[in-house]
Amino acid sequence: MEEYKYCPICGNILKVGIFNGKERKHCPHCAFINYKNPLPSVGAIAVKEDKVLLIKRGIEPGKGIWAPPSGFVELGETPEKAVLRELKEETGMSGEVERLLGVYRESAKIYGDILVIMYLVKLNGGTLIAGDDARDAKFFDITKLPDLRFNSFKSAIEEI
Ligand SMILES: [Zn+2]
Repeated sequence: MEEYKYCPICGNILKVGIFNGKERKHCPHCAFINYKNPLPSVGAIAVKEDKVLLIKRGIEPGKGIWAPPSGFVELGETPEKAVLRELKEETGMSGEVERLLGVYRESAKIYGDILVIMYLVKLNGGTLIAGDDARDAKFFDITKLPDLRFNSFKSAIEEI
C-alpha cells in the first residue's frame, strides 16, 4: 500500500501523531487524519438447488482460480445491492439475498486489508454468461467444489 506523504486535501506535509490510541499521519493545517481501513467487498454464494455458481477469476488476487462472484462495494451502494450487481456483471444471473453468511478478513498485495462480506444468494433468473473480470462461469455440485483458496470463501461455504 502506498503511503501518503502530503495531505490529499490541502497539500501540506503530513506529521505523525497519536489519534485514537494509534500513531497516524495527520495534517496540522486541516482536519485530515490518515486513517487506514480495510476495503469493503462482497461475495455471493449463489445457489440453485444443490449447485453453486462459481466464476474463474480473471484478475488478481487469485487470478485463474474458481471463486464465488465477488467485488468491491461502490460508493453509495449497500452491500446487498453490491453483491447482486457483481453477480449480474460476472455471471449474467440475477438473484435475491437470502442471508448474511459471515464477515471475514483477507489481505492482498495491491489492496492491503480487505473486509469480505459473504451472502447466500438464491438465483432466480438471467442467462449464464461470464462477464466483466470473470473468465468463465459455471455451476458446481455442492459436494464437488474446487479449492476456493481464500478462507473467506471456504468459511462462507461451510456456513451452508
Ligand atoms: Zn491538510
